[in-house]
Amino acid sequence: EKWIYTFGEGAAEGSAGMEDLLGTKGANLAEMSAIGLPVPPGFTIATGVCGYYHGHDGSFPPDLEEAVATALAKLEADRGARFGDPANPLLVSVRSGGAASMPGMMDTVLNLGLNDDVVQGLARKTGDQRFACDCYRRFIHMYGEVVLDIDGFLFEEAGDEIKEDHGAVFDRDLSAEACAEMAKRFREIVKAETGEPFPDDPQAQLWGAIGGVIRSWNNQRAVIYRSLHNIPDDIGTAVTVQAMVFGNRGAGSITGVAFTRNPSTGEKAPYGEYLPNAQGEDVVAGLHTPLPLVESAAHGEIGEATALEAHAPEVFDKLIGLCDRLERHYGDVQDIEFTVEEGRLFLLQTRPAKRTVEAGLKFAVDMHREGLISREQAVVRVNPDDLDSLLYPSVDPAANAHPVARGLPASPGAASGVAVFDPDDAIRRSREGEDVILIRKETSPNDIHGMHAAVGIVTARGGLTSHAAVVARGMGRPCICGASSVRIAPELDSFTVGDVTVKDGDEITLDGTGGGIFLGRVPTVEPELSEDLKTLVSWADEIRHLAVRANVETMDDASAARRFGADGIGLVATEHTFFAPARIMTVRELTLARNERERRPSLDRLLPLQRADFTRLFRELRGFPVAVRLLDPPLDEVLPETDAEYEETSEALGLPVEAVRKRVAAVRQIVPVLGHRGCRLAISYPEITEMQVRAMFEAASAVMQEFGETVTLEITVPLVVGKREFDFVRVIVDRVAAEVEQETGCTIAYRVGTLIELPRAALRAGEIAKTADFFSFGTDDLTRTVFGMSRDDADAFLTTYMNNSVVDLDPFVTLDIEGVGELVRIATERGRSENKELLIGICGEHGGDAKTVRFCHSIGLDYVSCAPNRLPVARIAAAQASI
Ligand code: PEP
Ligand code: MG
Repeated sequence: EKWIYTFGEGAAEGSAGMEDLLGTKGANLAEMSAIGLPVPPGFTIATGVCGYYHGHDGSFPPDLEEAVATALAKLEADRGARFGDPANPLLVSVRSGGAASMPGMMDTVLNLGLNDDVVQGLARKTGDQRFACDCYRRFIHMYGEVVLDIDGFLFEEAGDEIKEDHGAVFDRDLSAEACAEMAKRFREIVKAETGEPFPDDPQAQLWGAIGGVIRSWNNQRAVIYRSLHNIPDDIGTAVTVQAMVFGNRGAGSITGVAFTRNPSTGEKAPYGEYLPNAQGEDVVAGLHTPLPLVESAAHGEIGEATALEAHAPEVFDKLIGLCDRLERHYGDVQDIEFTVEEGRLFLLQTRPAKRTVEAGLKFAVDMHREGLISREQAVVRVNPDDLDSLLYPSVDPAANAHPVARGLPASPGAASGVAVFDPDDAIRRSREGEDVILIRKETSPNDIHGMHAAVGIVTARGGLTSHAAVVARGMGRPCICGASSVRIAPELDSFTVGDVTVKDGDEITLDGTGGGIFLGRVPTVEPELSEDLKTLVSWADEIRHLAVRANVETMDDASAARRFGADGIGLVATEHTFFAPARIMTVRELTLARNERERRPSLDRLLPLQRADFTRLFRELRGFPVAVRLLDPPLDEVLPETDAEYEETSEALGLPVEAVRKRVAAVRQIVPVLGHRGCRLAISYPEITEMQVRAMFEAASAVMQEFGETVTLEITVPLVVGKREFDFVRVIVDRVAAEVEQETGCTIAYRVGTLIELPRAALRAGEIAKTADFFSFGTDDLTRTVFGMSRDDADAFLTTYMNNSVVDLDPFVTLDIEGVGELVRIATERGRSENKELLIGICGEHGGDAKTVRFCHSIGLDYVSCAPNRLPVARIAAAQASI
């Protein structure tokens, strides 16, 4: 097995793309070397050695020693110096670096190959005693910490004492004597801590460091970092042994970090920091304030500080040239480590720069415009899941508000409302037309109705996978969890934070994107798509084949759908208008009526209301295909709950409260989501369907007469299990459509189709497609029924499942491709084979999830439909799927 890959002098055995074998650092050093960039020569020990070492009790593969000796001999020849030779010493660095980026988590040893003899040789060779001793004390410190496991604090403490004795403030003020004294003291510390003298044999040092770097793969911070970032534990680190170049060789030497563009704003301008006469770890360690590459406002206060541009203009120009070259070569913004040794510039590392979401968008757009990457590459560059923070309302920064408390940002968006502490209160007050924010210690499935009624949710306990967090994200409500400084009074009528008290009914504002809770009503701003995001999404639109529609419940949703670039509406959930405070009593009357005759008066009152709703909606959405779903939810949801509601209902119906209670009991279901809902209502009460269909067609006709243009109506029948159910409802729709056409003289183009949201419907799709014009997969109900698991209750076990890797992803967020996806695929195939014209989309919440969008593209659906805010995510994901 080949363990070692050399690089240097314009050649390399490795290349970019070999990250798994050489780590990102090793692969990119090889690549840079091969294209002739100034990289100090060296060799990389492949990641496999790390696995071997940990699997063999800390021993190396038998043939590694010889391979290292050969590579080292080549390195000596390249550099014209010899490792461990006091007459002409070669020093090396031993550096960590795996395939996954784990910044600062693993260890590195610099200046390796020194002992009391070699340090004198280095001083003679360079004519610089101070420099040689500076390297030596740095080396012993690092080696002691990384390889010998000595607490770094001991070195720092001793170093500070010596600094003070010599009147030095910064490391760069240290004299040769002070450095030499430090080296001596550090050797004593090693002896005292390990009981052994410091290893003087450079070969022993080298093997010690290789082992130390490999062991740092399993140090605690690296292990934690990997578990937080889902990086597998078995991929291992590579080890790069590289000739040292010295940023600490006097005034003409420099160490620094450069980004080829600003990783925070995205601006195309060099960005980074440097330190003269120092080594790399000095910049990172924060002991010194590094200087900027170019003068900027942020550094303006440093005063005497000089930007690299002015300090070393030639080096600066060279660096900018190299940055440019690297960007062109890699086609991405780079984060570079560099060293200048006596005026000569070397690159020690390059990797794709970590960036903010905004900067990432700007990079992608600018780099395509500059001709560095294709339009497709620009679109692929953006991770649609990262766009969340840009797509929801936020607290207006101009308001300059300061949060009174903070918690975990569990679900994005901002909302203001009155504080309530009880889910029933939340319902009552929201039915009275108030915006409420539900505040709970924690939430449980018993709170769902209150959470739904609230515009935002706060909990004092619980993390990002708590019930509140999971459910709020599912409902699209902003949510803050684990706001531990919030103390809720036992009477559930107020909370305190420090000496501030917020009482039931007081207004507050929450920012679920940032985690802040504010007093009063802080203005919020609707998300505005930035120019860069708009540009990128427009490129995505040119690339994608999948249409992207929006699900809407309200007028606000409808205008957001236009703003965020929907191709149509995949689902209008009509029940929202039914539950509006002004109508709930009418709907309650409808629900509690015993027969058609008793239902008629409420339907007559609802017709104009529905027609007005639809008219407003269709005006906004004219030109679009708009899929309107017939009444779907179990009517349990409108039944009276509180005594006051019973009183009201009894008055409205002219019945004693007791009689109302009897009727409610007769209607109330045990498992409403599997009960009397969906098309089952349409079949039991055709007159409700007639009213709704009439309202739709009259509204569409009115908009046609007003604008000469209207919507393409798609009437969606929910929760069917087979063809006969669907046909029953279709007959009603066709009949009413014809009646309205007769009355208005206006022909409205329409389709009638069905939600496929129960397993039986998916299996019988072939038959259903014979009379249906479209399918829309209701993957929320389909997931619920395929898994036999309700999302409202799933939190009790799903978090445990995920923690134990029993499931990988929440099936209510990302479509379960193996199970639910299989049914979607089957239904698509069977439907299409019976009806070539069948239009097929998905309108469950999964429609806004990037992975699900990719799947929908792969099985040839016509569209996905998602919440308006998620349209940019879906548009980009759809384009990425077709690249
Ligand atoms: C679905 O079940 O996926 C669906 C679209 O309907 P709802 O989520 O409203 O039940
Ligand atoms: Mg459904």
